[in-house]
Amino acid sequence: MKLDPVLLEILVCPDCKGSLTVDYDNDELICNQCGLVYPVRDDIPVMLVGEARRPEPLREQTTLAQPDSPAADSGAAGQAADQPTAE
Ligand SMILES: [Zn+2]
Repeated sequence: MKLDPVLLEILVCPDCKGSLTVDYDNDELICNQCGLVYPVRDDIPVMLVGEARRPEPLREQTTLAQPDSPAADSGAAGQAADQPTAE
């Protein structure tokens, strides 16, 4: 597959106007924003949402990823606030 670099410069995702990444192995253009995958046929990118492939749903990634929570390490934060200063 050969794609005109000038063409690639001006191509954007027709759905979200995001920039595109070329997948030379699969002859596809992948939107960096919404992830839609556009086919390239005869070296011509088919920039049609109707022709694009929907990305695999990766919704579980966000729920499964549990980075260490910096908050709630010790109970010290909640205590000091409520003390009335009598005197
Ligand atoms: Zn897009």
